[in-house]
Amino acid sequence: MTVFADFDRTIFDHDRFVRETLLADPQIGIYVNRAQAASSGSFERIRAWRELGDAYLDGSVTLPDRDLSAYVFDDAAQFIKRHGADFIIVTFGHAAFQRYKVEHALWTLSWRETVYVETGDKGIHIAARIAEGEPAVFVDDAPEQLASVREHCPWVSLYEMRRDGREGNGAHEAVCNFTDLETRLTTKS
Ligand SMILES: [Mg+2]
Repeated sequence: MTVFADFDRTIFDHDRFVRETLLADPQIGIYVNRAQAASSGSFERIRAWRELGDAYLDGSVTLPDRDLSAYVFDDAAQFIKRHGADFIIVTFGHAAFQRYKVEHALWTLSWRETVYVETGDKGIHIAARIAEGEPAVFVDDAPEQLASVREHCPWVSLYEMRRDGREGNGAHEAVCNFTDLETRLTTKS
C-alpha cells in the first residue's frame, strides 16, 4: 500500500524551523514576517513564501546549509525507516524552497519519491501515481488538500494530521502522529 504524505507540519516541524532558523536571520525574517502577517492559506501568504523561494533561487538570500533533521518529528522518521519503499512525499510550495527543506531534513533516510506541487492541488498528482482502486493512504494537515484527493481519487484513505493538538475539521479522520496512523492502518487491515 502506498502512503502519500505532506511535508510541512506532517513530517517536519515547520513552525519551530521558522522560529529558530528562519527568523534568526533578519534578511529572511522580512519575508517570513510578511507571510505570517497574512492569514493562513491566503494569496498574500503564499506570495510571500514564493518571494523567499525566488530570493533563495537567485542568490539574494542564503538559507543555512546545515542539518535540519532535528526538525523532523521522530515518529515520522521511524515510519519512513519502516515504510520508505512505499512512501511518497507530496509537498506544496516553491519547489526550490521545499527541496531545500526536504533534502536538509531527511538526508539520512530513503523513500520512494518526492512530488513538488507548485500550483494547484495535490489530488491530481496522487491520482497520476496509482491505479484506480489501488489501496493508498494520504495524510496532510491541510483539509483543502485532503478534499482535493477525495475529489480526484475517492478510494484513497484520508487522514488529517493534527500536530497542534486541535481537533480535526470533522470531514476526515484525524491522527496526531505517524504512530497513531500506523495503529489505525494495522487495526483496519
Ligand atoms: Mg502541511
